[in-house]
Amino acid sequence: MSILRSLLSLVLVLVTTLLVSCGNPDVAKVAPTYTPERLAQIEILAAPVVAARDRITEAESLLSARDWTDLDNLMHGPIGSLRRDLRYLGEALLPKEQKEVQRLSQEIFGHIERLDAASKARSYDNAALQYQEAVKDLDALLNVIPS
Ligand code: ZN
Repeated sequence: MSILRSLLSLVLVLVTTLLVSCGNPDVAKVAPTYTPERLAQIEILAAPVVAARDRITEAESLLSARDWTDLDNLMHGPIGSLRRDLRYLGEALLPKEQKEVQRLSQEIFGHIERLDAASKARSYDNAALQYQEAVKDLDALLNVIPS
């Protein structure tokens, strides 16, 4: 009887230990945060996006001049790597910001594609509108990036 009691208490100890160790990961699971290391990485990944935001304004004078060739060169050259840069940047973010950056990226590339089509059709009004919308969404995206 005393052996059974010892065994029983041993089982209880084991079960308790097991429960505590199983419960621990959940208790220890804290919400992910932007550590200084992650923020430093984000800053590096955001740099080409900020540079593209600066360069895309060159489209304004090209649009005014109806310089469709140089507009095309700008959008496919310096701005052409924006899609990849935004993907890398998005991947470095936490889920909430990542989702918003992905949504705005889709918006931006929709406008850039329509800008491209308008440029090919030599449609100034539509091209100017798509340019403005792309910049608006790009600014909104940069506002989402933690610093
Ligand atoms: Zn938009």
